[in-house]
Amino acid sequence: MMKDVGFIGWRGMVGSVLIERMIKKKDFQNINAIFFTTSQYGKSILFPNLKNKYIKLQNAYNLEKLFELDIIITCQGSDYTNKIYYKLRKIGWSGYWLDAASNLRTSKNSVIVLDPVNLKLIEQKLNMGIKTFIGGNCTVSLMLMALGGLFDNNLIEWIFVSTYQAASGAGAKFMQELINQMKYIYQNISHLINDSFNILEIEKEISNKMNSSNFPKDNFKVPLINNVIPWIDKKMDNGQTKEEWKGQFETNKILNLDQIIPVDGTCVRVATLRSHSQSFTVKLKKNLSINNIENIINSHNKWVKIILNDFNDTINFLTPSFINGKLDLPVGRIKKLNIDKNCFSMFSVGDQLLWGAAEPLRRMLKLLI
Ligand code: NAP
Repeated sequence: MMKDVGFIGWRGMVGSVLIERMIKKKDFQNINAIFFTTSQYGKSILFPNLKNKYIKLQNAYNLEKLFELDIIITCQGSDYTNKIYYKLRKIGWSGYWLDAASNLRTSKNSVIVLDPVNLKLIEQKLNMGIKTFIGGNCTVSLMLMALGGLFDNNLIEWIFVSTYQAASGAGAKFMQELINQMKYIYQNISHLINDSFNILEIEKEISNKMNSSNFPKDNFKVPLINNVIPWIDKKMDNGQTKEEWKGQFETNKILNLDQIIPVDGTCVRVATLRSHSQSFTVKLKKNLSINNIENIINSHNKWVKIILNDFNDTINFLTPSFINGKLDLPVGRIKKLNIDKNCFSMFSVGDQLLWGAAEPLRRMLKLLI
């Protein structure tokens, strides 16, 4: 019999990419999909390419309706998970809960899913009766897919990473705000752009506009356009942000390691719309040649792609603008460091909405079905 699968959060950034992928891979043919909403209850929606009929949205807070489902897949966010997950489990719901939000990642009864990296662990936990499977943090999943070969071979002593995270990583409203910031600046300074424009005068005018009280910044609190924000998520007691804290916790939980591999870094929001970039410093347990490092990285999965360390290949193939909407995971700028013979650095790019969020959940759903 086909499984009843409830979708919550399907119109957000992660949810809409998930639906798009599932339509492309014809995953809806094997399930009975039921769509829920927290804000548009009762409305009917026409999904392009999906059954070509109007689908009535169910109330995402209706526990009785949710109780009937075999599988729930939510991309709604942590607030929703907090409100519903525990209540549903308490009244005896024993279905599979798949979630893009972070709050259940720390639960002892959950597995963080990234099957090209931890399929064995997923299978082992499924056999043990675990029913809560959570997608990992976007930068962590992208890092593990990029460096998976070195982790598999137990070659990594520690990692330090600086991230360059896109606006869409914060959700649809933030991405919209970045676009509104672009629009605001253009609308207010376009009259100054002409054949004989004074570049410093325009720069000054843009800065003035960015500081004006009408500038759209309700979500980011400051301009992201023409700016970088070296802070993502809440403050932790040790000086890290929560986004930085996730690096070590989630990496080690996904890999299910006895001995912790230290991971630390600085997470930074940048004014790209989609796809996250990361700059790694990696200390290996031994001195490996660049060739060796590249071969090990390359052999881990079919999506990771080594980009030649030269100008043309780097600017063409190792950027968010090249990788948006693709599953490929380019890694490049691989070089040994003056600092230590066992250290190397590497730059990676990945679509955080695909491998960083929707794709591991889609593949987990497929595994269950
Ligand atoms: P999002 O875009 O903010 O969407 C979440 C919900 O917001 C939607 O389901 C929708 O709920 C509502 N919403 C309000 N205004 C909207 C608008 N203008 N367009 C679309 N939806 C709108 O959140 P998200 O980025 O997909 O993240 C969902 C969860 O995944 C979060 O817990 C996040 O931390 C996690 N995650 C995100 C990423 C990422 O790259 N974005 C990566 C990994 C994990 P209703 O339809 O019910 O109103």
